[in-house]
Amino acid sequence: MAKTILQFIDSNGPNWSPDWGKNENAQQEFDKRVKSLKDFLEKYKKIHEEFRFSKDISNYFKIDSEEGYIEMLIDTKEILIPENYDNFLSKFFASDVGNNRGAGMGHSPFDDEFYKDLFNIFKDENNEVYTEIYVGVSGNFDGAYEESVSFKEDGLHWEKEEELDFDDGEDVFESHGYCQDCGEELWSSEDDTNISKTREGYCFLCESK
Ligand SMILES: [Zn+2]
Repeated sequence: MAKTILQFIDSNGPNWSPDWGKNENAQQEFDKRVKSLKDFLEKYKKIHEEFRFSKDISNYFKIDSEEGYIEMLIDTKEILIPENYDNFLSKFFASDVGNNRGAGMGHSPFDDEFYKDLFNIFKDENNEVYTEIYVGVSGNFDGAYEESVSFKEDGLHWEKEEELDFDDGEDVFESHGYCQDCGEELWSSEDDTNISKTREGYCFLCESK
């Protein structure tokens, strides 16, 4: 069984606002996008039933009329596959144009029309959608990467930025001799240890013997 973990690192989903400072038609353009987004949510209001999502997809979209922007929300730090199949985001992020993610998501993405519809709501004058999405991708397979995700008309494009090496982390283990009972090496790191706090020279398993 494939297991995949996506960890979102300081990520912002697609968002759009008109140029409020310079564009005299800003309010008109904003109202138009808000209407497009509402039409989109109406068109796809049944998909949470179809795919058995835990929440209606309208929960993932924010219309802020005060500040004047619309945004798709990434409301979680982490998606676990298969545990979070019922999360809309697990299907949204299944898109992988060019097949670069390097990890399966256990189910297929939305169809092309869905991504295209959404792209058109958030695209700017350069035909790009503004996002900042960085994801740690790992699972029960070799290799873990930090990847960036961009949103284009045909779906999501993943790019490996950096290999994550969990064995070579910042945890430095310091040795403190050996337990006087069981002979286990006593060690400590920045946030963990096996040394007894109450009995000097013993590991915590042997402290009360
Ligand atoms: Zn011991």
